[in-house]
Amino acid sequence: MSDKIVSILSKFSREELAFFAKYKLPTYSLKTQEIIQERIRYINLDQQEIVRLISENEFIDSKGSSLKVCPRCNSDKLFIDQLEIYDHRSLAILDGDSFRSDIEKLEMKVCFVCGFNLSKDKKPRFLSRLFRRQS
Ligand SMILES: [Zn+2]
Repeated sequence: MSDKIVSILSKFSREELAFFAKYKLPTYSLKTQEIIQERIRYINLDQQEIVRLISENEFIDSKGSSLKVCPRCNSDKLFIDQLEIYDHRSLAILDGDSFRSDIEKLEMKVCFVCGFNLSKDKKPRFLSRLFRRQS
């Protein structure tokens, strides 16, 4: 896992790493968080810089606004995730395949960098608009 995360992080731009630090860092195990923090220090990204990069880049209008980039962080590192729905409620990811026919699988396009769900969150949230750069 650690080699994998290191190689993934090395492909991130400073902007992507800032978004990743804000939105995804807490979702990882403590050990992995340390590796991520190490990478953040390595490229001299401090808290102030993270806040600045996010405020300057969050929900900037992406050209054409196709679903090829994340509307929140503008990254193209998107992946398709599957959410299992049972009785209109989502289930925690189950191990292995489920053969129950009453479980519906919903395909979601999710941003790897900031976790933004492109299938659901179509509009920027109110708060994020507050942090947009005034120009
Ligand atoms: Zn994103």
